[in-house]
Amino acid sequence: IKTVAVLTSGGDAPGMNAAIRAVVRTANSLGLECYGVREGYNGLIHGDFTKMGPRSVKNIINEGGTILKSARSSEFKTPEGRDKAFENCKKHNIDALVCIGGDGSFTGAKVFNEEYGLPVIGVPGTIDNDIFGTDNTIGYDTALNTAMEAIDKIRDTATSHNRVFFVEVMGRDAGFIALNSGIATGALDILIPEQKDSMEELFGTFRKAEKVGKSSSIVVVAEGEKLGNIYDLAKATKDEFPNFDIRVAVLGHIQRGGSPSCADRVLASKMGYGAVMGLVEGKSKVMVGVKSNRLIYTPIEEAIKKHNEIDKDLLKISEILAM
Ligand code: ATP
Repeated sequence: IKTVAVLTSGGDAPGMNAAIRAVVRTANSLGLECYGVREGYNGLIHGDFTKMGPRSVKNIINEGGTILKSARSSEFKTPEGRDKAFENCKKHNIDALVCIGGDGSFTGAKVFNEEYGLPVIGVPGTIDNDIFGTDNTIGYDTALNTAMEAIDKIRDTATSHNRVFFVEVMGRDAGFIALNSGIATGALDILIPEQKDSMEELFGTFRKAEKVGKSSSIVVVAEGEKLGNIYDLAKATKDEFPNFDIRVAVLGHIQRGGSPSCADRVLASKMGYGAVMGLVEGKSKVMVGVKSNRLIYTPIEEAIKKHNEIDKDLLKISEILAM
């Protein structure tokens, strides 16, 4: 291969810039040309390509977001859209595509490869950490630390006023941020999509906490947990415990932003390097990942289909340590 293109797609995540930088510099160091494609698959369709050299990616390793911008492209889901995308790849002599994003983006890359044969490699960039084939995804560590710091601040006010706080963190399908930030902040209870919870269990936990003399508590709730939305949870709890002073905090998009943590910068650098090396070695339709500190490659359909299991030990630990 002589020319690679790189894009960021789907939800943005801190560390995507470090990954772009690693792709561009690794490619250049091997004598390959590199194009950045703006706004995910939309940029492929509209021909928004920019030639990138080592200086194009200076001073971005510490920046959140993505300099290439990200997008959700409904047009790329149509054969006509992908046809335009391939025409633009041909025009720029693109031999391979590095796609930084989540499983939706990988599905797009897989379909594109199957239709046109262009080698593709996925780099897992999403704060949710829900992708199979890697211990961590780019952005997860930063998001986790952002959530932890925010919940620490909420704890200060919860303690001062003897309040119960329900704090919502991101994770529509996965509870990694909730479980880990919950343990790190000493949450009384943690509600995640992977686990069946009931209101009775939650109330039981509150009763136990009252008994042991806890005067304030935090319940960390993943967006996608199954008991109902966080405001309904708070209301039902208030109905059951009229003496509780209950508040709700939704952390929202602050979890996506900010300067990437050291772990995310290193992970993104390793994966960006691994993506280009994989392509040069002839790999395609795989996702690069890091497991036990080693670069590995997983067939992209496996990365899309399978999911990382939540750590059962951590679930148990969170219960034991909460009281
Ligand atoms: P995150 O998990 O952070 O939301 P993601 O990569 O899963 O990231 P999606 O919005 O699901 O985000 O997917 C990103 C883009 O990938 C879509 O907007 C679309 O352009 C492309 N894509 C997803 N599924 C397909 C598909 N079946 N065929 C073609 N393209 C697809």
